[in-house]
Amino acid sequence: MKFYSTSDKSLRVSLKDAVIQGLAPGNGLFMPERIPQFPNSFFKALEDKSFAEIAFGVSQALLEEDVPVGELKRVVDHTIAFDAPLVKIQNGIYALELFHGPTLAFKDFGARFMSQLLGYFAKDCDKEITILVATSGDTGSAVANGFFGVEGTRVIVLYPKERVSDIQEKQFTTLGGNITAIEIDGSFDDCQYLVKKAFQDNDLARTLFLTSANSINIARLIPQTFYYFYAYAQLKDRSKPIVFSVPSGNFGNLTAGLLAKRMGLPADKFIAATNANDIVPAYLRTHVFSPRRSVTTISNAMDVGSPSNFARLMDLYENNHARFSADVDGYSFSDEETASAMHRIFNTSQYLMDPHGAIGYLGLKRYEHAYQNQFTGIFLATAHPGKFRETVQESVKRDIQLPPALEAFLAKEKSTIKMSADFRELKDYLNNV
Ligand SMILES: *Cc1c(COP(=O)(O)O)cnc(C)c1O
Repeated sequence: MKFYSTSDKSLRVSLKDAVIQGLAPGNGLFMPERIPQFPNSFFKALEDKSFAEIAFGVSQALLEEDVPVGELKRVVDHTIAFDAPLVKIQNGIYALELFHGPTLAFKDFGARFMSQLLGYFAKDCDKEITILVATSGDTGSAVANGFFGVEGTRVIVLYPKERVSDIQEKQFTTLGGNITAIEIDGSFDDCQYLVKKAFQDNDLARTLFLTSANSINIARLIPQTFYYFYAYAQLKDRSKPIVFSVPSGNFGNLTAGLLAKRMGLPADKFIAATNANDIVPAYLRTHVFSPRRSVTTISNAMDVGSPSNFARLMDLYENNHARFSADVDGYSFSDEETASAMHRIFNTSQYLMDPHGAIGYLGLKRYEHAYQNQFTGIFLATAHPGKFRETVQESVKRDIQLPPALEAFLAKEKSTIKMSADFRELKDYLNNV
């Protein structure tokens, strides 16, 4: 399988180059040149398969020419080392819980898959690979934990000072070893800008072997398709149309879902559910893509003003608004709506949602209201509620226990480097590591 760039379709690179480069020249994003189609028999057989078997089947169809089978199996088995259960919340409404990994958010899937794949490709590189990553919270913890101790790699995490939760911060500022955290005096968009600048810098390219682990990396995106198939496999009643609601920020998860649909997954509709940073819902409404500065919300892992996977979405739909909106509806929700949904569902269904999952849930409710038809709704529960304990406690008016994995992180000392959002400062630092 070769990969092309969304900004230059004539460019074709190998999986190895796509994973190592992260971003294509001219800020393009890599896409697979061919999307495999699974026959009906594949979907019929899904329910008898384990999560890891399903994931291996999907990754084989995409990557079998690029990674030896045994190696691919090892990468998949390492990635799918925890479950993603489909949990019934109400009649016809399910949560796909993607937070049972080490950092308790869905980004563990992408980070683990990518770290193993990159570790495999790094074996024949002579320079250490530096992974530079901007995070609004969860990417940093997933990538840092995914790469912690992986030989031949070091990770530098850039994050906006005071704009991530305590628990998020502790998960990537306390590891040490091959993980460094840089606290930027600015927003997540500033961090993302700095990372982009670093990749475009010719001096740095000469001295460092830089790569990215943001959701733009194709190795992060591919494993995110797996759990859509696994959700379908777990669904007992498939008589009604299936709607996936995806709480979104950079839109990697939504892109992966739409890729799965393109591979044949019988999903009727996808919902792009956002907080006040409603760039994609606004695009669906107005036909105009207009990125802007992000605003801060209680679902802060989705506070993105310039969603990086928009280029992939447009590529997948050939910039055709009508075709895109046939598959995708977009809704946005305020902090008040998010908090009251967490409260309501806890009281009526005894189910605890984190603020991001709550936005996914609200997406299904608004869809139900808009169409009044019968459907089976699955929302992606992207983080464990304990990861956003303060917000969740305030909403449900009750104390919440932290999972032991998070308690252990909180007990450790944070260690960071402080910087302004001025690129020269970052460049100086990178030149001297
Ligand atoms: C990153 C993140 C999202 C947004 O995912 P995208 O793929 O960037 O749209 C949603 N919820 C949580 C908890 C996240 O960490």
